[in-house]
Amino acid sequence: MARRGPRNAGEWANWAGDQRCRPARVLRPGSREELAEGIAAAAAAGQTVRVAGSGHSFTEAALTEGTMIRPERLSGLLDADPASGLVEVAGGTVLADLNRELAALGLAMENLGDIDRQTIAGAISTGTHGTGARLRNISAQVEGIELVLADGSVRRLSAATDPELMGAARIGLGALGAIAAVTLRCVPAFTLLRVDAPHPREEVLDTFAERAEAHEHFELFTFPYDDGALVLERNRTDEAARPRGRAAAYLNDVVLENWTLAALAQTGKALPRAIPALSRLAGRLASGGRVSDRSDRLFVNERRVRFTEMEYALPREAGPEAARRVVEWVRSNRYPVFFPIEMRVAAGDDAFLSPAHDRDTAYVAVHQYRGMEWRPYFEAVEAIMDDYDGRPHWGKRHFQTAETLAPRYPEWEKFQRARDTLDPDRVFANEYTERVLGT
Ligand SMILES: Cc1cc2nc3c(=O)[nH]c(=O)nc-3n(C[C@H](O)[C@H](O)[C@H](O)COP(=O)(O)OP(=O)(O)OC[C@H]3O[C@@H](n4cnc5c(N)ncnc54)[C@H](O)[C@@H]3O)c2cc1C
Repeated sequence: MARRGPRNAGEWANWAGDQRCRPARVLRPGSREELAEGIAAAAAAGQTVRVAGSGHSFTEAALTEGTMIRPERLSGLLDADPASGLVEVAGGTVLADLNRELAALGLAMENLGDIDRQTIAGAISTGTHGTGARLRNISAQVEGIELVLADGSVRRLSAATDPELMGAARIGLGALGAIAAVTLRCVPAFTLLRVDAPHPREEVLDTFAERAEAHEHFELFTFPYDDGALVLERNRTDEAARPRGRAAAYLNDVVLENWTLAALAQTGKALPRAIPALSRLAGRLASGGRVSDRSDRLFVNERRVRFTEMEYALPREAGPEAARRVVEWVRSNRYPVFFPIEMRVAAGDDAFLSPAHDRDTAYVAVHQYRGMEWRPYFEAVEAIMDDYDGRPHWGKRHFQTAETLAPRYPEWEKFQRARDTLDPDRVFANEYTERVLGT
């Protein structure tokens, strides 16, 4: 299934273009009832079912050769109470649309990842997170989930009344049922001030924990062949929003998005021996800046350059050492990787399969440009992360199996019990869930 190139008729491909499948049937339900009917009919016909979100996982998470549900028509706000901040939204709602609707109500998500193209159900299902020492992943903002099960019945789960099933369903890998709707606890709209500044990498890693604590949202990017790190600090501000239009959009151009990066990455792909020099150049180009804007606009970036990615959640204190070891591995092997290492943080969380379960976390992410060899690099990074009891992001490449993952998750058995209750016949299974959760 790992193939690139143009998509053939009937083929589904993820954003990176390297996870593909040919579902036997594709359904695009327009209501919860149509969703339920489609699932029940597929299950009765002996087919497995996967809901694809917007295909932004790098893993095989959404792939199926059975029935694929596309959620484009299950979109939009269903209910909202601006006073309490509780908002019910259809599972297929793309985060960018959600953010716009919330802003119109004077509300916002308290934290977001660095893009807004995912669906809300897809985002929570793999534990999508942003950064913030005291903030948990996006699924922690979920108060209720409406789940359509294999027989077409609908279960409305709430954090208050079904803590055990919610602990599983908040990060469920699509393996428990189809999420028709999600109730989110939002916060009053706010403005963020984002300050980007380059620093020596060693200095930033030495002070990683303090920097993470000192800012609401702390993040860094570092190119392995360069000695610098670009630090991004975002904090709430009472200043009026002062977006800088195009300049703001291009503030971070060389880090992971857009044209400068594309040109350098393309050159590196054609001339791998030039990668260390290009990487140092990119590090020098990564310049500072300051901008304030509506929160969601400053959380997210546009990613036009395609890549594949691995990301590991580690005990917070292990992050700097693990990142140093990745840099050292790349340099000593002269591995042709032009893309930076990204580090973020999150607070410990109680979802059973949260990679940040029960521990304050540092995330370390590595990327490889589309079409370049990623496997030896990612295998080496995974071996490093294994030394720290690392837990992989469910939506990003890794090589773990149920056997290697179970000991890393204290609530593994509770998740399996919920799976047995909600999907005893494994209608919502695929090769990925079989690999990482077992049959
Ligand atoms: C450019 C880029 C940037 C990214 N940035 C971040 C980031 O900052 N932080 C982070 O943590 N991750 C990030 N990711 C990863 C991404 O957030 C996750 O992989 C996310 O799960 C993708 O959501 P999606 O809607 O595309 O779902 P998909 O990838 O299509 O599906 C993901 C999983 O959710 C399940 N699913 C989807 N919809 C439903 C539903 N309605 N009911 C039941 N199951 C469902 C699918 O079956 C699948 O198992 C990024 C990915 C890309 C490509």
